[in-house]
Amino acid sequence: MPSFSFCSFRLFRLFRYLSFFSVMPLYLVATPIGNLEDITLRALRILGEADLIACEDTRRTRRLLDHYRILRPTLSFHEHNETERSAELVERLLAGEKIALVSDAGTPGIADPAYRLVAAAIASGITVIPAPGAVAAVSALIASGLPTDEFHFAGFLPHKAQARRSRLEQLRLLRSTLVFYEAPHRIRYALEDALEALGDRQAAVARELTKIHEEFVRGRLSDLIQHFRERQPRGEMTLVIAGAGDDNFVSTDSASLSERVQRLMADEGLSRNEALKRAARALGISKKAAYRSLLEEQENAAKEDHQNGDEQHNRKDLEGGEVGD
Ligand code: SAM
Repeated sequence: MPSFSFCSFRLFRLFRYLSFFSVMPLYLVATPIGNLEDITLRALRILGEADLIACEDTRRTRRLLDHYRILRPTLSFHEHNETERSAELVERLLAGEKIALVSDAGTPGIADPAYRLVAAAIASGITVIPAPGAVAAVSALIASGLPTDEFHFAGFLPHKAQARRSRLEQLRLLRSTLVFYEAPHRIRYALEDALEALGDRQAAVARELTKIHEEFVRGRLSDLIQHFRERQPRGEMTLVIAGAGDDNFVSTDSASLSERVQRLMADEGLSRNEALKRAARALGISKKAAYRSLLEEQENAAKEDHQNGDEQHNRKDLEGGEVGD
């Protein structure tokens, strides 16, 4: 007759074995960013088989599910309930429910709160399976006409002017193409601050991707600013800006910053401030950065003068020494 502790150990092993096999993976399912045809067959199958579909806005996702006659239950998961909902969803996955996470549009985890649930699931030993599809950033990038070999997705820029400018300033030296999400009522501020921080680079605004009014506005940042001064910005927008590189800037002049400033003051009668602003723009750098470089150039020039003076002095000493020897 087996002892009680032996039986309970066997039961414990059996329970572990069964529960291991009943834990379900978390599926991250991409949905369209506009055009309802942009959904994969695999995404439709996973959504159709799910016990629960977690989504940012249940009404919005219901429209997509109704279109494909998917009658599965939904549960809201958004930035205001992500912490509690992550815990709840992890428990339900551990209990064996098959859960798919979708965002309002596009790929979950890209500029939405999915990350917290993914991290919680991984921490609980749950397998996470991506079902890829549309991403606005990638669609905008590939048709922007700007280099795609290396890109930096920077999400949404901060809403406050100062924070937005310093964020752009941080990205100034990156050589990769820059991709941002932006709201239509903030696009002009973003473009103006980008011009100030990055210089007049090539850029594109991809509007209403995959929808009836899809539009690409391409040109230098100053052209895009002009475009949106003349037309009210509307719809969803993704902004793509060329990375730091010699060919993105208006000027191919090899003169130093202080030479440019002097020349602009002399030739065009600009104030020092205006000349600095113009030279900065031509070099593709912010006015602040130009001011810093100008100070550095002046300090270096002063150091060189000083060194030259010392050298001449030393040479005289040396010459004097040689004569004496
Ligand atoms: N998860 C989504 C993805 O995979 O692209 C992005 C979600 S983010 C909260 C929403 C932002 O993406 C919008 O404000 C806009 O900047 C961009 N976006 C979404 N759909 C777009 C579209 N059809 N055209 C242009 N930009 C779009």
